[in-house]
Amino acid sequence: MGRFLVLLGAFVLLWHSFRSVARQISSEASQRPSHSGKVDGKPAEEVTVPEEVTGKLVRCAQCGVHVPQERAILDRGQTYCGEHCQAQAAPSSAS
Ligand SMILES: [Zn+2]
Repeated sequence: MGRFLVLLGAFVLLWHSFRSVARQISSEASQRPSHSGKVDGKPAEEVTVPEEVTGKLVRCAQCGVHVPQERAILDRGQTYCGEHCQAQAAPSSAS
């Protein structure tokens, strides 16, 4: 009888440790952000600015149109709605 209790205790101990490990793994997996590729080409360390939330609108420095920041072109601290505005703001043919 005593041996059975020891076995039962060992089994319970094993079960508890197994469950805690499983819970740790599952919580780690849920905390990890999904790699859906929202940031194009940028390392995750740079995306600490709260303004870079998906759906945030930025103003084009050339024509004033508001575009989603993920689609805007960032050039020398200015944002542009497209390549044409970027080219107008900084014409490469001038030089
Ligand atoms: Zn523009």
